[in-house]
Amino acid sequence: MKYLVLIGDGMADYPLAELGDRTPLDAASTPAMDEAARKGLVGQFCPIPEDLPPGSDIGNLSLFGYDPHQTFTGRAPLEAASMGIALDPDQIAFRCNLVTLRDGVMESFTSGHITSEEAATIIPSLNAAVDGLPIRFHAGVSYRHLAILTGEALIADLARASCTPPHNITGQPYAPHLPQGPGAEWLAEIADRCRPALAAHPANAARAAAGKPAATAIWLWGQGCAPRMETYPKRFGLSGSVISAVDLVRGIGVCAGLRVIRVPGATGYLDTNYAGKVAAALDSLEDADFVFVHVEAPDETAHEGRIDLKIQAIEDFDGKVVAPCLDYTLARRDARLLVAPDHITAIATKTHAGGPVPFVMCGAGVMPGAATRYSEEQARHMKAYLGEGHRLTPAFLRLETITPEALAAYAG
Ligand SMILES: [Zn+2]
Repeated sequence: MKYLVLIGDGMADYPLAELGDRTPLDAASTPAMDEAARKGLVGQFCPIPEDLPPGSDIGNLSLFGYDPHQTFTGRAPLEAASMGIALDPDQIAFRCNLVTLRDGVMESFTSGHITSEEAATIIPSLNAAVDGLPIRFHAGVSYRHLAILTGEALIADLARASCTPPHNITGQPYAPHLPQGPGAEWLAEIADRCRPALAAHPANAARAAAGKPAATAIWLWGQGCAPRMETYPKRFGLSGSVISAVDLVRGIGVCAGLRVIRVPGATGYLDTNYAGKVAAALDSLEDADFVFVHVEAPDETAHEGRIDLKIQAIEDFDGKVVAPCLDYTLARRDARLLVAPDHITAIATKTHAGGPVPFVMCGAGVMPGAATRYSEEQARHMKAYLGEGHRLTPAFLRLETITPEALAAYAG
C-alpha cells in the first residue's frame, strides 16, 4: 500500500462574518478535497490535547501518529534533529535566538532578520565566550540557532526551567520573562558571558553602521532532551519521506526514521514550489510506502490576518498539491490519501487555537461516508470523531477497512 498524508498547516478556522459566516476552508473553491470527501470519509479529530499549547510542534507530532504527552520534550530537540545533531542522553537542546534588547525592551526577536552569513561569524565568538562551561552553540539559519548543554544533573534542572518564547514579548520589557526556576542562574550566566562578545563583534558594528538592529543578546528557550520515538520502519513496518520547508516538521520526520527530501524553492509561503514538492512526493513512492507533505502557507497567511490570502493558500494547496495526489491515489488500487490541518490558525486573532479540526481520507479500503464537501461544518455532522488526534494516522496506516466506527474504536 502507498500512503499519502497532506498537511495544510493552520488551514482550519472559525466562521467569519466577512465570508457570510463561513470559514476560509468552506468559502474557498476546493474541488479536489471535495472529490476526496465524496469518494471517501470526512470526520473530526483533535491534534492538540487540551492541556498543551496549540503549536505546530504538538499538532504535527499528532499527525505523524505520536502522542504529544509521551513524545514532546520541547521544540529545540526536534530542530536539532533537523540540523543533523544527535543528542546524547545527558544532553539538552535549547533554541538560541539572536535578539535585539534595547532600553529594557525586547526590540527584535530576530535581530532584524540577521543573515545566516553574519550569524555564522558570531556563533564561534559565543563558543569562545562560554569556554569552560558545558555548553556549545551551533549555527543555524538567520536568527535561529541551537545551544546544547551537557551534564546529567544540569539537564534535570534545565528541563524544568521556565523559558519564554521571545516572539511572544516583542516590544515588551523582557526582565519579567527571563528564565525562571531550576537552572535559571546557569542560563543567566551564559547570557551574561555572551553579551560582551556580541557588543564587540564586527558583524554587529557593521549592522549598526547600516542602521540595522544588532544582535545584542542570546535568548534561550524551547528546551528539551531527545524525544523517544519509535520509528516508522519499526512501528509500522513502513519506509517513507517527509517534505516540508519547516525545520520543526523535518525534525519530527528525522526522529520518526523518515527520509527528509529537500525541494528547491520550498519557501513555506504562497510562492513555494508546489509542483516540485508533489513531484518529489510521488517520485519517493516509487521505492517507499509513505510520504508526508507539509504546506505552511495557510498558517502564515492566517497569522497576517489576510482572509483573501488564506483562501488563496487553501485553493493553491487544493489545486496544486491535493489534486495531483488524489489523481495518483484514485488511479491505483493500493493507495490511500489523508488530508488534514495540524491546528486552527484563526484569522480573527491571527494566532493558533486548539479544538477539533476536519480531516478527509479516501482510497483503498476507505468506505465512503455521507459528506459532499470537505469543510469544518460538514465534518461536524459526520460520525467519525477522534478526541485523541494522534490515533488518526496510525488508524489510517493500519486498519484494513476504514469506517467511522472503526476509526472511533481504534485504540492502537
Ligand atoms: Zn502549524
